[in-house]
Amino acid sequence: MAEDRFQTIVNEIYERFKVYGVTRKEIESRLKLLLFEFKVPEEEAKRTIVNGLRKNYNIAKGDLKTPIVKISQIEPNQWVSLKGKIIQLWEPSSPTIAQTGLIGDETGTARFVVWSKSNKKRLEEGKSYLFEKVVVDEFMGIKSIKVTSVSDIKEISEEIEVKEERGEIEVVGALVAIQQNSGLLQTCKLCGRVVKAGICVEHGKVETNEVLRLRGVLDDGERTYDLTLNEKCISSLTGIGIKEARKLAEEHLDRSIVLMELKKRLFGKYLKVSGELRFRSLNASSVEFYRPEILKEVEKVLGEEGI
Ligand SMILES: [Zn+2]
Repeated sequence: MAEDRFQTIVNEIYERFKVYGVTRKEIESRLKLLLFEFKVPEEEAKRTIVNGLRKNYNIAKGDLKTPIVKISQIEPNQWVSLKGKIIQLWEPSSPTIAQTGLIGDETGTARFVVWSKSNKKRLEEGKSYLFEKVVVDEFMGIKSIKVTSVSDIKEISEEIEVKEERGEIEVVGALVAIQQNSGLLQTCKLCGRVVKAGICVEHGKVETNEVLRLRGVLDDGERTYDLTLNEKCISSLTGIGIKEARKLAEEHLDRSIVLMELKKRLFGKYLKVSGELRFRSLNASSVEFYRPEILKEVEKVLGEEGI
């Protein structure tokens, strides 16, 4: 092993333990022994030393200072600290989760989960924080950062440039959820929020626009997207444009009939969507039903003809 690699490992461990009075010498001699005498692989040697020092100095696992890393460097089961900006907050799927969403730095983005039991102050979208002693988890290839009761979170004023996942994409997936704020809606002319009975939560009684829109979740088997379909897309899939939607609502004296109709026709269907991706949000510019059985038929016919 090269001398500088050896020193890098020593430094890495030293940075985490120096506050407890551990010396560089102590780490060096342990590392030499493990690497050169016992021929232990590097990662295992590091782990052995860290665990040994923790025991000797009586440091609980959660108390150990963790190295500050970039989001692109995180690996499953690591305890780390990192600085990141809250890009999006999502609706938690379970009461055990206080907050969940997307965090980013200049190297990438990751999901994060704050457990309810951890009792942390609420994070705000657009603000940056130093996360200390968080643990990295991986589920179905997606890394996420878990904030537990041993973690510390501090707001920081430092401006963090976030690497954006952004651009035109095409994706095939199943529409696995359709949100309630879909259908024939009235929105506030000032802020665009959905208005109920003419009242905007922000602006009170306001003038409204009428829009036909669908918000849902598209799952391509690897990840999910928050999908938005505009009137044009909805109309091209279902034949229901804003005119038809109004007619439906009038006939039934009920707007919610439009959402019911869209659910009936679109829920669970495979869609091929083109549009602009921004983090998790996919804003469709065009969409069509995806019919794998027809594609298979086509392939079969082409195969038989030897093309
Ligand atoms: Zn408003």
